[in-house]
Amino acid sequence: MIKKLIFTTLITFGVIHHSNSQQINSFTPKLIIGGKGEILTITGSGFGNVQGNSYVSFFQESNTYSDATTSNQLKYLSWSNTEIKLEMPVAFSNKIKLNINGNEYFSSETLKVNANLGYRNVNPLIYNLLTDNNKKGGVTWFVHPVYWNNPEIKEAIADVMREFRCKTGANYIIEPLTKWVPLNLNQGIHILAPDSSLNVVGFNDKLWTSCILGTETFYNYQTQLLRFSTTQNWYYGKGQPPSGTAKFRYVLYHEIGHSLGLGHVNELGESMYPSVTNLPSDNWCSRDSITSSEQKAIQHYIQLSQNFTFRACGINPMKQITNCEDVYNERLQVKETEFKREVLYPNPAKNYIQINLLSEVPTDIEIRNIFGKICLNTKIESSEKISLPSNLPSGLYMVSLKSVIGQSYHRLIIQ
Ligand SMILES: [Zn+2]
Repeated sequence: MIKKLIFTTLITFGVIHHSNSQQINSFTPKLIIGGKGEILTITGSGFGNVQGNSYVSFFQESNTYSDATTSNQLKYLSWSNTEIKLEMPVAFSNKIKLNINGNEYFSSETLKVNANLGYRNVNPLIYNLLTDNNKKGGVTWFVHPVYWNNPEIKEAIADVMREFRCKTGANYIIEPLTKWVPLNLNQGIHILAPDSSLNVVGFNDKLWTSCILGTETFYNYQTQLLRFSTTQNWYYGKGQPPSGTAKFRYVLYHEIGHSLGLGHVNELGESMYPSVTNLPSDNWCSRDSITSSEQKAIQHYIQLSQNFTFRACGINPMKQITNCEDVYNERLQVKETEFKREVLYPNPAKNYIQINLLSEVPTDIEIRNIFGKICLNTKIESSEKISLPSNLPSGLYMVSLKSVIGQSYHRLIIQ
């Protein structure tokens, strides 16, 4: 039997599909926050199996689409002929532009960007964060006396700060600025003040610093200013501002939004819309709150500012707020003054001692000499002055304060 040999020749053809079907069919989500690392998925056809020189481009505040260099720096998670996934950068609402090998394609729908969180690097995302700047857990805004001494303005500032504290966790507190300082970033403190030389309605200046430890560089805001024009006809109340006035609280929402990392958006209805007086913001500035997208973006920024692990140059994370209504930090101030209160004075003492109780409850006082002998035994109902027995020799004594709260011992020198 002759074996029949069959030679099979396989011929493969290299086919390049020059298809005209490049198009964006859809994308998700339709509503997004820029700069926060949210994933945008674009679906369609003809994107190419690999990214190559192709890129996705977004409309910018500069009124142009991002160029090839900027668009190529974005964080692309995947790229296939029918689907692209990438992290959403800072952008303005508009159609998405796709550049495939030099040809441009636009989405038919508009991608809405309701908030933008500013970064210093997009891939990976690196921000200038906030820290425990005041060693009280966050940032103290020193309020200029012209504002602090005007109850209406002070209340407006306190209310707006409370809104951010309670909705985002931003550990911002306010204190009066008690000495004159020039309004610049060299003061090393955060200042909120009117500024007669400001030629815009409001402005937020920021000074960032960096600290390097090993291979890591940490960036944070060290000093900021919130300045407000003195030439505006300001309205400090709530609700809709009377016509011809500028709503101070609304401008403050906008500027504090900047101080908490937010950039502008072109979505109507958002506090971060670039213009803050007259139309169109007069259409929505009657609300006395931030929007849910602003809240989400800032919450994310605060979480980053609370949870970083970098420790050097005295940098510690911003702390969580215990009582968000307490914008004056009264709880802490009470503690501090209590701490500063001397329990006994004068010390050394001569004829009397003043006893200051941490809690005003009935307290047993006992004074013993160094041999343990009781020299004075009395009870007080509240902080008061006690006369010392005139026959007590000079020397060291031990004072015991005992109440339902507990017992404490203090050294006392009698002259
Ligand atoms: Zn702005």
